[in-house]
This record gives sequence, structure tokens and C-alpha cells, in this order.
Amino acid sequence: MNTQIYKEPAPIVDKENPFESMMERFDVAASILGLDEGIYNYLKEPTRQIIVSIPIIMDDGSIGVFEGYRVIHNNILGPSKGGIRYAPDVNLDEMKALAAWMTWKCSIMNIPFGGAKGGIKCDPEKLSVNELEKLTRRFTANLLDVFGPDKDIPAPDMNTNEQTMAWIMDTYSMHTKKTETAVVTGKPHIIGGSWGRKEATGRGVMTVAVGALEKLKIRKSEATASIQGFGNVGSVAAKLLKEQGVKIIALSNINGAIYNSKGFDVDDVIDHVSKQKSLTDYKNAEVIKNEELLEMKCDVLVPAAKEDQITAKNAGKLNCKIIVEGANGPTTAKADPILQDKGILVVPDILANAGGVTVSYFEWVQDRMGYFWTIDRVNRRLDRMMHQAFTDVYKTAGQYKVSLRIGAYIMAIDKVAKTLKVRGIYA
Ligand code: NAD
Repeated sequence: MNTQIYKEPAPIVDKENPFESMMERFDVAASILGLDEGIYNYLKEPTRQIIVSIPIIMDDGSIGVFEGYRVIHNNILGPSKGGIRYAPDVNLDEMKALAAWMTWKCSIMNIPFGGAKGGIKCDPEKLSVNELEKLTRRFTANLLDVFGPDKDIPAPDMNTNEQTMAWIMDTYSMHTKKTETAVVTGKPHIIGGSWGRKEATGRGVMTVAVGALEKLKIRKSEATASIQGFGNVGSVAAKLLKEQGVKIIALSNINGAIYNSKGFDVDDVIDHVSKQKSLTDYKNAEVIKNEELLEMKCDVLVPAAKEDQITAKNAGKLNCKIIVEGANGPTTAKADPILQDKGILVVPDILANAGGVTVSYFEWVQDRMGYFWTIDRVNRRLDRMMHQAFTDVYKTAGQYKVSLRIGAYIMAIDKVAKTLKVRGIYA
């Protein structure tokens, strides 16, 4: 048998370190809060960082060895919660940032979870379904002592999906000798998934975008939006914003961007893409460059693709009134002051895309009760919680005279720090 070692791709030159980007905002919020030095040191370090080696037999009979990560940033508010991503550039710093964002997100949403994130450095496009299943099951087996419904609960993230969660749930259940649905969220409904989970992040993006339009007194029926990334989050946000009367004038994915000043029939674009057709082949659309979409004149810009899209290089060229961060970390810390100077209202990721973890929480609750809610109940509760979180963050930002992002960090850190003080430091 041959042994393959997965080779790290060439570094992306202009990428900022996501953990440092997160820490820059954390530091500002911590200093405004006057956070005790000991608590600051406690909260800035992840509780656990685990790196596992994952050997699998590849389809050609060789042994492929992959590197997997699970970072638990914090579990003071409850069991840690966070997605699993498969991508060639997955690395420990990215996991640390994403895990910390989960802690802050759960805190803002008043969800009794801490933050975690995991992933495997691999190129899922080059792996067969059989290899992906083996990779997922061996990764789960390596982390059996970490995962658990009361300990650490994975969910889907980039390049993982309901099927991946089903494999994790099954592997975990085989080892514990009982079906343990609550060990993951984002599962297929037939094995304990919640209605509305798949659409939850995009739905939450829509709710806070509408809230931001109201704050700026822009009528929904007169508003325009551009959406970067037409995957799960972007397509649902586009569809639901259109249902609210907002005109969706630009859409993009990794292969290109399209523009229509009259607005897209989003359902029709979703239908087009679902037939494996290219987004840029969509009729009645002008093909534009991906970077043009970000700089386009519109009321709401929704970055819903990946990290580091709005940087110090392009922030000055943006021409929108509101940014609603569907993706995690789409704006670098260096871009924040530029956007603030331009008067752009940024609804930060740790609030804007928290709809996903909120319905994940609902899924966990339903699994543990063994009683499942209707889609209407899920959506009503999600809308209420997103609306409340948006109102709370807006109020905190006003109280401290800071951006919504720093307001969100202040709110999140304050709650975790207060909980830590009450619980105390063990031993
Ligand atoms: P996805 O894989 O379904 O979609 C990502 C989309 O972005 C794809 O259309 C892809 O082609 C596009 N894309 C990638 N690079 C691009 C680029 N440079 N320019 C334009 N488009 C590009 O992923 P998703 O689940 O929609 O997640 C998107 C983002 O939202 C990620 O940052 C993820 O961490 C975050 N997020 C997702 C959820 C969730 O529930 N899915 C929850 C919270 C946060």
C-alpha cells in the first residue's frame, strides 16, 4: 500500500489572520468593558485545541493521511457548539477564530452553548463519497471523548452537509450503543433534524437586514441588495429579502457575478443553478466581475461567501449603506474603521448569521425532548430571537457610542465574563 500525505496548498498572499482579526475586536471591547486582566487572559485562550491524524484507505487502495482539528474556545455557558468544515486551507488559527466567534454568537443569542469549531484539511472535490464517509467516521472516532450531547455538538459548515452529520451521528451512536441524535445538529429531518435549519442562517440575515433598513428609514420596497455567494446562506437570504420587497440586483458565486438593475426573480435563479447550470449563464443578466459586485451601488450588501472579502484595499470603494455579514469574518479588522468613516452600518457576523446556531439549538432541544415542532413554530421563535438580539446589540452600541460590531462583542464578552465570575475558577 502507498501512503499519501495531503500537501498544504500555497498560502493565499493577501489573507489576514482570522484569529488576529477577531482578537483586535475582542481587545477593543475588553478595554471598553474594563475587563479584569485575569478574565481577559482566560477568555482569549481556547479551552482545548485538538489536532488528530486521520488515516483512511483511499479508493485506489493507498492510505491517505489527513489532519483534523477541533477547537473548543469556551464552555462556560454550556456544551460547546460549532460547525465542521472540509477545505484545503483549514488551519488551527482559522479554527480558533471561528470557535471564538461561536462563543460570542451563542452569548448574544442567549443560547446555553459555548463555542467550538472543527475541520479537516482536505480537498472534498477530489474525494469520492466513499472516501468522505470514511474520513468523517474516522474523524468522529478519533474525537469520541470530545463530542457528546452534553459536551460538544458539531454542525455543518463549508463543504459539509446533512449527510456528513448523519455519518457523525451514526458513528457516535455505534460506539455509545444507543441512538444519540442530539450529538450533532443540521441532520436530515428523518433522523432528528429540525425543520427550518437549512434556511435558518439566511432567514436570520433577512430579519436583521430588515431591522437595519428600518433604522436607516429606508423602505423595503425602495431598497436594493447585492449578495456575494449564492450558496446556502446567500440564496436563502436573497429569496427572503425579495419576498420582503427588496430588489436583488446582483448575485455571485466563486465562478462569477451577475447584475440586473430591474432585480432578479430569485426563485428562478435558484432553479437555474439547481440544474447544474452556471450562475453566469442566467438569462437577462449582465455578467460582471466578482469584485464589482462588492463595490456596486446598493442599499444592502450581503457578503455570504467566506472570510476576508472586505479588506483595507477595497473598503474605501464600497458604495452601500448597510452591510449584513452572512459569512463568518468577511470583513477584516483593518477595514472596520474605513467602513465606519464612510458611515456604512455593518451588522456583524456574530449577530447577522446567528440564525443557524439558533435553530441548531432548537434542534438539540427537540432531539432531547423527542418532540418536534412545526416549521411555523421554528420560524416564529427564530424571528423573535433574531429581532431581540438585533435590538439588544443596537442598544448596547448606542449606550457605548461604538459600532454594532463592537457593541456585539461588548454584549457577548460581558455575559460570558459575568457567568465566569459567578461560576468561579475551579481549584
Ligand atoms: P456554501 O458552500 O453553501 O456557499 C458558499 C457560496 O460562496 C458558494 O456559492 C460559493 O461559490 C461562493 N463563493 C466562494 N468564494 C467566493 C468568492 N470569492 N466570491 C463569490 N462567491 C464565492 O456555504 P454557506 O453555508 O452558504 O456558508 C457561507 C458563509 O456563511 C461561510 O462563511 C459560513 O461559515 C457562513 N455561515 C454559514 C452558516 C450555515 O448555516 N450554513 C451559518 C453561519 C455562518
